[in-house]
Amino acid sequence: MKLLIYLIFSSFLLPTITIAQVNDYTNRKIIKYLYTDNQYLSKKAEVKKKFAHVSAGHWGEFVKGVDQEIVTREKIIALTFDACGGSRKGNGYDSLLIKYLRKDSIPATLFVTGLWIDANYKTFINLVKDSLFEIENHGLNHRPCSVNGANEFGIQGTRSITDAYDEIEANAEKIELITGRRPLFFRSATAFTDEACAKMATMLGITFVSFDVLSGDAIPKTPKTTIVSNVLEHVRPGALVIMHFNHPENKTYEALQVLIPKLKAEGYKFVKLQGYPLKRKSLNRKICPN
Ligand SMILES: [Zn+2]
Repeated sequence: MKLLIYLIFSSFLLPTITIAQVNDYTNRKIIKYLYTDNQYLSKKAEVKKKFAHVSAGHWGEFVKGVDQEIVTREKIIALTFDACGGSRKGNGYDSLLIKYLRKDSIPATLFVTGLWIDANYKTFINLVKDSLFEIENHGLNHRPCSVNGANEFGIQGTRSITDAYDEIEANAEKIELITGRRPLFFRSATAFTDEACAKMATMLGITFVSFDVLSGDAIPKTPKTTIVSNVLEHVRPGALVIMHFNHPENKTYEALQVLIPKLKAEGYKFVKLQGYPLKRKSLNRKICPN
């Protein structure tokens, strides 16, 4: 009885988040807002001081400080989908893919940029409200994470530690302000980063992730069969698969229609990243995940 009273009472104490129908936190507005926020600025100053003499370290998708798979022996897989945003990498929305995940109750982790949120605000809110999906951070402006302006696949990386701070932290703040939940994970644009950025993310309490299985779905005109075999050939317990949901013109949805039943038949279950311990794996490869 006491427990029942407690549960009824505590349910009234849960924070209720009202999500605004209009985006009050566009990239332009959020930066303006955060640059007047003392907490944001003092954390930024602390980062600047702490990393003043820290070298960039290695550059890549799997550098020290970046996780790429779930620590488990169970047959579980995390399907992760990026929405890169921007005129170059696409503000599209693969509604058929999302509909398919919903129909089959397949949980997924969605990495979104500030750019994509601004271009798809109503859709974003719709996804936020669906507990099937976990919303995570793909950066404010979709830039590879660098402390010295390195670039990858023609995409200019952040130019300094403070620039990298804005890319990660401003989008984390933006997502939290809109959704009421602070993202736990960050994946940089192209998944490339240097070690200093990864270290800073850890300092901010953010887990920097890349991927374990590259589907290759972001490369235009990749056939469905290639995406399917890329995943099936590399999948194993704890795999973290990278795909995209901002390219309806690509074959991601078509590939999933084949992949999901096959993986289920192999005994795999699908999970969101939250709640699972992650680890880094040593690999040496360079393939563009976007
Ligand atoms: Zn991306």
